Amino acid sequence: MDASDLGDKLTEVLLTEAQLKQRLAEMARQIEADYADTPPLLVGVLKGAVMVMADLSRELRFQAQMDWMAVSSYGAGTKSSGVVRILKDLDADLTGRDVLIVEDIIDSGLTLSWLKGNLKNRGARSVEICTMLRKPEALKVEVDVKYIGYDIPNEFVVGYGLDYAEDYRNLRDVAILAPHVYQ
Ligand code: IMP
Ligand code: MG
Repeated sequence: MDASDLGDKLTEVLLTEAQLKQRLAEMARQIEADYADTPPLLVGVLKGAVMVMADLSRELRFQAQMDWMAVSSYGAGTKSSGVVRILKDLDADLTGRDVLIVEDIIDSGLTLSWLKGNLKNRGARSVEICTMLRKPEALKVEVDVKYIGYDIPNEFVVGYGLDYAEDYRNLRDVAILAPHVYQ
């Protein structure tokens, strides 16, 4: 669906499907150059990163293995709690592997800084992060993010995989959710 299917539930489209695709292609060229010798294992964080993973992985001009993890840091609300739980773990053994975490958004950065440490402790040779979106709050935490799609304002956004209470993930664009929906 696109924004026109959602009436007054959105206040503004921040990034269109076309903008997201175009930026992903640029990021893919950077990733190809950085991993010219060995392709990384792409680790997607469910469920939000599904769209980014689908588009980024197909854009990459090398064979890419994928694995998935599900972690929870939000519950049903709109603020990060800082408590990270593994809901589904990886299938792959990370020993000696170059891992590229694929994420939808970094907000507080709590989830990713925890995840990066967790994956490093499993013996990965390297762990880097690729995120489609970043909010300004993320700049306050010590998490080194190598590939960033777009910096966005500090608003609660939905679409392109991002949800509010499991809805709106299948919106093609990234849009600001109208406050009346969650207040
Ligand atoms: P962090 O730990 O605060 O960086 O939160 C990261 C996770 O929270 C992301 O992977 C998203 O699943 C979720 N999240 C953060 N901001 C938003 C938002 O604006 N809309 C929807 N989900 C969000
Ligand atoms: Mg997520």
